[in-house]
Amino acid sequence: MFECIIVGGGPAGSSAAYHLAKSGRTVLLLEAAALPRYKPCSGAVSPSVAQWFDFDFTPAIDSQLRRVRYTWKLGDEIDAQLETESIWTVQRDVFDQFLIEQAEAKGAQIKDRMAVTGIELTPDGWQISAVGGTFWGST
Ligand SMILES: Cc1cc2nc3c(=O)[nH]c(=O)nc-3n(C[C@H](O)[C@H](O)[C@H](O)COP(=O)(O)OP(=O)(O)OC[C@H]3O[C@@H](n4cnc5c(N)ncnc54)[C@H](O)[C@@H]3O)c2cc1C
Repeated sequence: MFECIIVGGGPAGSSAAYHLAKSGRTVLLLEAAALPRYKPCSGAVSPSVAQWFDFDFTPAIDSQLRRVRYTWKLGDEIDAQLETESIWTVQRDVFDQFLIEQAEAKGAQIKDRMAVTGIELTPDGWQISAVGGTFWGST
């Protein structure tokens, strides 16, 4: 029986798992894919996300950009020099796994290959059905 069950191990799910586990909740995160999972993405992340976490993101950052070229249909270029802050670029399999590991380090239980198929409130609590098993959450 878990206090919090999170469906999906992307940045939203792992961030929620991290903060809930850190605040002392029992947390289970169910991810459909095998971890680490690849996510098609440009991988540009604003460094301002760091303000919401108390750990160093350096191991998950691929590079930091200070100059960006915007185009419209690969023409009409505009070059921008970023003056206030850089943009992080990340590989999503690395970045997302890093967040998962931070949540796990705070005590969240992570189960991958667990596609959730149903969520039901029963007299015994929340029943979470997944392809690989059934899990219970307290009300
Ligand atoms: C082509 C492309 C480029 C992008 N580029 C950028 C960018 O440069 N910068 C940026 O900030 N954003 C970008 N995005 C958006 C970014 O990818 C999303 O905003 C981000 O991934 C959302 O995070 P999330 O945790 O909400 O969802 P996701 O990252 O999608 O994670 C959801 C997770 O839930 C799991 N899941 C789904 N259903 C179930 C189920 N039933 N049971 C268990 N698990 C389940 C999935 O397997 C997945 O791992 C881009 C998106 C695309 C498609």
